[in-house]
Amino acid sequence: MKKTKIIATLGPASADKKTILALARAGVNVFRLNFSHGDLNFFAGIIKNIKEIRTKYKIPLAILQDLQGPKIRIAELKVPVMVKTGEEIFLTEEKIQKTKIKSIQVDIKGMACCVHKGAKIIINDGMVQLRVKAADTKLKRVLCVVTAGGLIAGRKGVNLPGVDLPIPSITSKDKKNLIFGLKQGVDIVCLSFVRTRKDMEDLRKFINKKKQAYPLLIAKIEKPEAVRRIKEILPVCDGIMVARGDLAVEAGFKNIPVMQKHLITAANEAKKIVIVATQMLESMISNPFPGRAEITDVYNAVVDNADVLMLSGETSTGKYPVKTVETMSEIISKAEQEIKKQKQGLPAFRETDEKIKNVLSYSCAAAANLIKNSLIMLHAVKLKDIEAVSDYRPYAEIAVFSGAEKIYNSLAFFHGILPVWARDKKEALATVIKKNKKLEGVVYVDFYASKNQAPYMEIIRVNKNTIK
Ligand code: PGA
Ligand code: MN
Repeated sequence: MKKTKIIATLGPASADKKTILALARAGVNVFRLNFSHGDLNFFAGIIKNIKEIRTKYKIPLAILQDLQGPKIRIAELKVPVMVKTGEEIFLTEEKIQKTKIKSIQVDIKGMACCVHKGAKIIINDGMVQLRVKAADTKLKRVLCVVTAGGLIAGRKGVNLPGVDLPIPSITSKDKKNLIFGLKQGVDIVCLSFVRTRKDMEDLRKFINKKKQAYPLLIAKIEKPEAVRRIKEILPVCDGIMVARGDLAVEAGFKNIPVMQKHLITAANEAKKIVIVATQMLESMISNPFPGRAEITDVYNAVVDNADVLMLSGETSTGKYPVKTVETMSEIISKAEQEIKKQKQGLPAFRETDEKIKNVLSYSCAAAANLIKNSLIMLHAVKLKDIEAVSDYRPYAEIAVFSGAEKIYNSLAFFHGILPVWARDKKEALATVIKKNKKLEGVVYVDFYASKNQAPYMEIIRVNKNTIK
């Protein structure tokens, strides 16, 4: 089993049941629905397909809802507009006004009030770039000079690095989408463009009010201020995404590798999930083979301790969705074999507020590393306990059992976890012993033993001849 998990974004190229099944068999653990594009009917159809597949084939699969957040976009345009370097254009907040120079509407109110002369405006991930010459708050438009010309199409993303925009972190569109997602029972919710700890606290409060089954919450880190505040953001979420697409634009592309490494370390230390996302195998959108730099990027993300890797356009609109996942799975497996060969031992013990659970998480990883052909087993009561064990990176698999569908599917998201469908310890042990003929011992951990018993760890001998 590969330990590093894969998220695949679903879209027109992959929304049908046949492709979803093929993607799951190729190694996808989590399916992502990107709520920046597509309507609710489309998403309802995909969710139905995923649920049917996971029930019929008994494959644990988590559903991830990615909320657009305060992302600014070019408005719907009837025809794309070509702009040349050196040309002056207007960006307008309201319907296109008749002017001598080209004017393009942007989907945001209040832009003219907060941009300053000289500010950079980046469109379509840097394909077109502008510099602000003057802002007109009365006419609600901004005069810009084009510094890198190109084609501006409708709905393309707009970034204003360093500009504090007057948009709420959870927009009304996000709220509508989130209510839909909660009703559908999504397992994971991501919020885009998180800026502060409060953004995630607000998301949690909003979900609490709805009293639905609780999803895991992921903060997408795609602004430099979120990187700076990562130590404050981590405690209030279940994980983070290194969202390299927007982060490259907002923080400068050369800063991506160092920020990626820093964010992975910070998340692992806080015992939270970390996803590395965007352009991991980008060239496979149109080619059946990966670029050489992409192979190394996927490999290095595993070596750097990312928990989960994400595919976007590769699987949602690309020509080779299944081939891309197979390629990613192969590179991940190779990286994990190499890590195992190097036998680096456990990462250092890290203090947390929960001393006993933390000591047990560390101890079970150490014990499993010392017992040949063993695995770790625990009962999934609270998902956050799982991540603590996973982040000590034991060589052995961590079999986590649950008899609750929601938890069972969410387990697919955690690094190194093998979800096991079982109601109790006995049933779970029987399942793993049946599946693994070589198994000699199980390191069993119970964080929630009973009222009178403290959490404990025991070593179960599967093969009494080899474990004395
Ligand atoms: P997006 O997020 O694909 O929703 O923009 C990921 C990123 O920015 O890298
Ligand atoms: Mn983004």
